[in-house]
This record gives sequence, C-alpha cells and structure tokens, in this order.
Amino acid sequence: MSATPPPSRAACAALDEADPLFGKRDLFSLPAGMIYLDGNSLGALPRAAAQRLAAATAGEWGEGLISSWNTAGWIDLPARVGARIAPLIGAAADEVIAADSTSVNLFKLAAAGARLNSPRRVIVTEPGNFPTDLYILQGLKAWLGEGVALRVVPREGLMAAIDADVALLVLTHVHYKSGALHDMAALTERAHAAGALTLWDLSHSAGALPVDLNAAGADLAVGCGYKFLNGGPGAPAFLFVARRWQGALETPLSGWMGHAAPFDFVDDYRPAGDIRRLLTGTPPVLALSALEAALGAFDGVSMDALRAKSMALGDLFLDLVEARLPHAGFTIACPRQGAERGSQVSLRHPHGYAIIQALIERGVVGDFRSPDILRFGLSRLYGGYAEIWESVDRLVPGMDGFLWQETRFSVGAAVT
Ligand SMILES: *Cc1c(COP(=O)(O)O)cnc(C)c1O
Repeated sequence: MSATPPPSRAACAALDEADPLFGKRDLFSLPAGMIYLDGNSLGALPRAAAQRLAAATAGEWGEGLISSWNTAGWIDLPARVGARIAPLIGAAADEVIAADSTSVNLFKLAAAGARLNSPRRVIVTEPGNFPTDLYILQGLKAWLGEGVALRVVPREGLMAAIDADVALLVLTHVHYKSGALHDMAALTERAHAAGALTLWDLSHSAGALPVDLNAAGADLAVGCGYKFLNGGPGAPAFLFVARRWQGALETPLSGWMGHAAPFDFVDDYRPAGDIRRLLTGTPPVLALSALEAALGAFDGVSMDALRAKSMALGDLFLDLVEARLPHAGFTIACPRQGAERGSQVSLRHPHGYAIIQALIERGVVGDFRSPDILRFGLSRLYGGYAEIWESVDRLVPGMDGFLWQETRFSVGAAVT
C-alpha cells in the first residue's frame, strides 16, 4: 500500500496539461470517448499511416504500377524501415531490417544463431515465454532432431543454466503477461562469458522503453511492428543482427530477396553481404509503408521521457487500484517497481475475463490473458494521467459484482 493517497482526477488532469508528450495524442486517430489501454496488443492508428496508405495505394500502386518499385523506393522499404527502428533499440541503421512476422524472424535467427555457434546445440529459454517463441523453438528442435536441445529454465535459474554447452539464449525482454523486464546487459554478458550468443525478442520493448542492444553487446534480436510501433494489424516485424555477425549468419530461408543480386536471376544462391541476407520474399509494400509513416510519431521524442512517463502512469494505476479497490479480489501481477516492468501493468482476478469485457463496454479497452490476467498497456504517445484515473474509476462500480456477473460478459471471443 502506498503511503500517500493517490492524486485526484483534477491533479491528473493538471499532470496532462504540464506533459510535453501529451500533444502527441493528436497524431493518432482514436474513437471519441474510448480509453485505449491495449496498445501493447495493437497500437492505435497514426493519422500519418492512414494518409500514407491512401497515397501508396492510389498513387504508387494505382498510377505508378510496377515502376514504383524504383520510383517510389519500394524495394528499399525493408532497409529504410529497419533504419528508422534502429535508434529506438540502440542499433546502427544497417543492423535492422523489417521483414516477415516476429515468428518467422525468430525461426530464421534461432536457426542461424544456433548453427553459427555449433557444435554447441543447447538453446536456453524460459517457461511461460510468449507461446510463439516456445512453439518456434519446439518446431526447430523437431526439424533438427539431435542438432538442437532445448533447455527451458525458470527466470531465477537462467544465469546458472548458461554453461559451455549453450549455443543460444532466446528470451523476451519484457514479459508479455507480467511485464517483468529482464536485465539484458547482465544476461548478455553472462552468455558471452560462457561462449553463448543471445537472441532477444523485443516485441514489448521496441517503442515502449529505451533499449540499447549495442551497449548490451546483444547479438541478435527480433520484434513486433504492430504493438508499440503502431504499424497496424499484422504489420511487418523487424530483426537485428549485430554487424560483426552479418557476414557469417546463414538463413534457413534462403529466398531470392536475400540473394546478393536478386535481379541477376541466377540459379545458385549467394547471400547478400549485409543484413539483407535475412530477407526471404517480396516485401509487403503497403504494410511497410504504413509502418514507415507510423514511426514518424517517434520523431523528436526522447525515449527516456517516454519511459519516465510510462513508469509514472503504471505507478498511478497500481496506486489507484490499491487505494480504491482494496477488497475486490485483485492481486498485482506485474513488478510493483516501475524500473522492473515494461510499459504495461497486469492484475490477476479469478473473474478477469468478464471484468475486462464489462470494462470494455464502459469504454476502457484493456485485454485478458488466460487464465486470469488483466493487462493494461500504457502507450504514452497517446495516453495520459487523467485517462488512467478515469479507467480505475470505471472499474470501481463494477466490482461489487453486479456488472461482470452478467453472463454476456463471460462469452469467449476468438481473439482475446
Ligand atoms: C506479439 C508477440 C509476438 C508476435 O509474433 P507474430 O509472429 O508477429 O504474430 C511474438 N513474440 C512476442 C514476445 C510477442 O509479444
């Protein structure tokens, strides 16, 4: 329980007034009256992305047709978008490229990273990692058989599990449910001391908090384009390869876009000399165009300022829940210290699913993660303090049970 009472609605509104980031909200198109706390699942629509999509469709595609590959620079979109993501994650412009989905990039880099460090064959990860991360590693193991062994170790045991057999450490920097943050620098240092490489999943980190891959000495990374980067549903993902590995890393998906000279149309594969060797097929031009425009929302924004605000918003949310809903059956399911969590807060409640549905009906959009986690993303580019106050305020009257006990709130949908 915090010692000081949480601020009033008016005090929160005053914090918004004084917040230089609050104006960024105008860059986004949000439904009137909705409090959107789900940018960790699908980022809101940047107005610039909608405009760019319209222009890319009508002009570049409709008018320019095939010449737009050159005249509109379509062919360079994966590298151009990668270069734009790079400063958000502490990478050089030529170390990041946008391509495929996070899952596919995980497969490519896990396979390539493990092979790069053979004859070692152990891949270390943690239980409860995002499902696709685990499934991809399980699939890789099924394909390679004896070539790969998985060592799935709870986070407290990770440091000790990294030994001389380990080829690759594969972890998600910010946990998708709890929001708990790994110490990337310490784990990377430990991995390197043992001769292992690291592959970080930045899906809940990129655009959410400052990440410094190169300061941490990270080797490989992947991340998502549709969460905190606001690239739109199913936006292309990105991948990072430290410059020192770019000449040696071999992709398992050796498609023509990764070839040194794709338009020579020769029979034999020869990888590009740089990070483009991790490309596979033709880039999704419209989706990349939207993502490129969306990234403009980060122009001139200090990630440190974003971070400070997201920690403050998270603290405010948790303080308010503790103060106003002490007996409602919630437990805090994320680290209580802002510095130890990503840009989200999580609560646990046995009726979590129904509560989230009831809250959505009251205009506050969070999400539910099975079996009992309520997640609230804190996207500081378009969120504010008063919204957090309002969200908890709308949660309070429902918690005497009458609202979420209505059966309509318990009907499951395909996507939660
Ligand atoms: C959202 C997310 C993904 C998404 O993978 P896709 O292939 O883009 O669907 C992967 N890993 C983590 C940790 C995520 O949070």
